Amino acid sequence: LATFGPLPTDLGRSRLIDELQASGLQGRGGAAFPAWRKLAAVDHAKDPRSLADAPVVVANGAEGEPRSAKDATLLAASPHLVIDGLLLAGRAIGAAEFHLVTTAARLPNVSRAVAERADAVAIRVHEVPEAFLSGEASAVIRAIGGGPSLPRDKAMRLSSSGLGGRPTLLHNVETLAQTALIARFGATWFRRLGTESEPGTRLVTVSGGRLAPTVREVVGGMTIASLVEAAGGTTDGLGAVLVGGYHGAWLPATHLRARLTRQELAPFGATPGAGILVLLDSHRCGLRESSAIANYLAEQSARQCGPCANGLPKMAEVLERLARGSRDASLPAEVRRLAALVRGRGSCHHPDGTAQLVLSALTVFASDVDAHLAGGCLADGVLANEVAA
Ligand code: SF4
Repeated sequence: LATFGPLPTDLGRSRLIDELQASGLQGRGGAAFPAWRKLAAVDHAKDPRSLADAPVVVANGAEGEPRSAKDATLLAASPHLVIDGLLLAGRAIGAAEFHLVTTAARLPNVSRAVAERADAVAIRVHEVPEAFLSGEASAVIRAIGGGPSLPRDKAMRLSSSGLGGRPTLLHNVETLAQTALIARFGATWFRRLGTESEPGTRLVTVSGGRLAPTVREVVGGMTIASLVEAAGGTTDGLGAVLVGGYHGAWLPATHLRARLTRQELAPFGATPGAGILVLLDSHRCGLRESSAIANYLAEQSARQCGPCANGLPKMAEVLERLARGSRDASLPAEVRRLAALVRGRGSCHHPDGTAQLVLSALTVFASDVDAHLAGGCLADGVLANEVAA
């Protein structure tokens, strides 16, 4: 409050929604859903005559993705901005409950910030484990309700039937922090930076190669190369960059001039996601890296739906055989077959995101696939034709 001043009191429901729509703010949790649309959906679904069914608002700071550190950094540096956004969004939709979810490491700082404010007494802070799926929307709702931090085995539409069956607005903590700034300074202020399709600023986490995990606030629409440099890294010697984290896609080093926008990343199957970039040095094997990630993702699933119980472990196993140097030429096609089988079959996005990562690896590291099938590895400096000779 000392930094940004008091919360605006003249922002009615429709003004906040209108301002968010004009700003073009997209969710920062990964799906990039327009922030205003979630508010409007909950506002539309609520029954103003029923206090028992009054909406719920949730700030999601679970950040289960291991290569992301932006939410933890934000909650450590500016918890009050997140609280501001939570209060403003909740008031706009007439919420009766306010929840903030984070991990053990951030809990004391967040709880202290909530306790400092007279206007935040309604906020309940919850701890969730540091696990890949604990930030998935339905997993957050289950955890708040006293259940496990795992996605529900049935798809749910939070805007109409979330926590306790009530209309629920769940936003990533960075989205709420941006909401608080837009509420104070307006959509025009937000759009003074960034591009038409990626307005404003966003937080990114860059790690890998020789770079320790680094969080930066950057202008929307920057190139991947300039983001790497802004984080203190270099594109020299890079083989590829994983964009969007473990549910993202690989971008070859030849395309680092692509911007962090949906349009420019679409040809690679990537999206800006939660602003995660993982650098891969050219001397490291992209297949082995991808195999390690696929194994991790297969282990993280709740195994309550068919694709996670059977498909992901099998797909990870076949990819690992390829990565370890099996010369069975049927392996790439088998990975693709399994990826097609799991896609669209889970209750949540986990099988789809994992399949996307694996398919992207087969495409971007196609030369490595050939080298492995020939008994070599480009990362070891042993080329397929050398082995064949
Ligand atoms: S798809 Fe996988 S992670 Fe998602 S709910 Fe089903 S078992 Fe759990």
